[in-house]
Amino acid sequence: MKITRFMTDHGIRHEALRAIALASYHHAQTNPRAVMYGRPLTKEKYDASRWIIEPFHRLFDCCQENDGAGAVLVVPADRARDLPHRPVYLLGAAQGGHHRSAAPVHNAPDYASAHFKTVARNMWEMAKLGPKDVDVVQAYENFTGGVLLSLVEHGFIDPATVNEFLTLENLEIQQRKDAHEYQRRQPGRVLHARAGNGERECPPAARHRRQPGGEPAGRCRPWRPHGDAGQQPRPRHGGHPVSTALPAGLPAPGIEPLTAPYWDGTRAGKLVVQRCRGCHKHQWGPEWVCHRCHSFDLGWEEVAPRGRIWSWQRPHHPVHPALNGYGPYTIVLVELPDADNIRMVGNLLCPPDAPVTIGAAVEAVFEPHDAATPPYTLVQWRVAG
Ligand SMILES: [Zn+2]
Repeated sequence: MKITRFMTDHGIRHEALRAIALASYHHAQTNPRAVMYGRPLTKEKYDASRWIIEPFHRLFDCCQENDGAGAVLVVPADRARDLPHRPVYLLGAAQGGHHRSAAPVHNAPDYASAHFKTVARNMWEMAKLGPKDVDVVQAYENFTGGVLLSLVEHGFIDPATVNEFLTLENLEIQQRKDAHEYQRRQPGRVLHARAGNGERECPPAARHRRQPGGEPAGRCRPWRPHGDAGQQPRPRHGGHPVSTALPAGLPAPGIEPLTAPYWDGTRAGKLVVQRCRGCHKHQWGPEWVCHRCHSFDLGWEEVAPRGRIWSWQRPHHPVHPALNGYGPYTIVLVELPDADNIRMVGNLLCPPDAPVTIGAAVEAVFEPHDAATPPYTLVQWRVAG
């Protein structure tokens, strides 16, 4: 959702991510020990690959599993001079996150970020170099969107020029005479497992799918909007609409002292969030301390159950066995303008192919799970109107 928001903010097209995937496969064809050696990727194959998560994660945008280990031997420069290989000098290294990067992830102040900005600045200062001094970049990120953010936040690309710059032609390493020699001496030290790759490139077998709250597979209506089944007022839920979008068998929320007031609120059909008694600001998710004024005096208040879509995604795979056969389903990050623009994650009740608009107004729909132990009520969202 961070990358969706970033791409939306800067008008970045999907082709930029495609170029990153194509470049990775392109370079793999020059290395016999690369995982994807002998398996070139074309634009057509990329475009035809199945969705993993909309709006930007097609199959080839995603990382394969990469269990393994690597090591870099670091020795003092004077010691390195005695070793048989030409040394590589480490000019700068930095790690860390930026302000509030450890906060509840969807409420970090700088949301559409991979948190490289502070670290990159420190690294450049240490190395006494800048992006313009660099000839070759290896961005080790597990998804194409991560590479995009890494290149931008290390200063290699201005977001305004991403569409123009990120093409296969611009990302291709120019083959030099010594490049082949290098690869002969340094065959890829790959970490990636190869098993099963062929299966993953195949589209999923045709299968019956059912939407939460919809008809079982095989009925005349293959899809049905999420939550159609029970949007009727219930007195206990304060007259707000009620949905029955999700199936039974999902894990119950972990209700603990810190979060209990929120869950008590949803059972009563109210959206209740934390508000600091010191600075009077709302915050989400629940924390023991106010992250603005550091007060421990936090209370809870009901807020208007409405907001606007800040970002979204649509997974095409079940994340729990109870969701087998359901989906794709739509997840939204909702910003609450009436509560200091805090953001909370929820499902958007909509058809699986419904367009989603960042900024669209949404309203809460309460979904009781009365048969669960303990009973709980979820907050879902639907487009207002
Ligand atoms: Zn405060």
